[in-house]
Amino acid sequence: MSEKMEGKTELICIVCPRGCHLVVDENLNVTGNTCKRGEVYGKNEVTNPTRTVTSTVQLDGSAVTRLPVKTSQPIPKGKIFELMAELVKVHVTAPVEMNQVILPHVLGTDADVVATRAVR
Ligand code: SF4
Repeated sequence: MSEKMEGKTELICIVCPRGCHLVVDENLNVTGNTCKRGEVYGKNEVTNPTRTVTSTVQLDGSAVTRLPVKTSQPIPKGKIFELMAELVKVHVTAPVEMNQVILPHVLGTDADVVATRAVR
């Protein structure tokens, strides 16, 4: 969540549970962070916000019907709804290995969608 005020953006760092209140100015100077990770997060959140997406896909051939998946790295926030629409169409057949790539280079990004559990 962020709020713009007179060329500055206020946001809460979500990198760790401490939740520092950050302010990013028009020159991308970050204040309010307790550590370097918050500075990186603040700059990225203003210039190119990204998120790691977790979801499930249909799993066939197993008593378990949904396979938990996630993106191997964060993707642009603007692509999240498009990704969720893609995941609705996916059917995977067991067995599945942990970290097995389900969708490579999803939506033209460097991220793969991978399984987050193994199913025999
Ligand atoms: S700035 Fe550092 S300490 Fe503060 S919430 Fe972000 S990661 Fe945690």
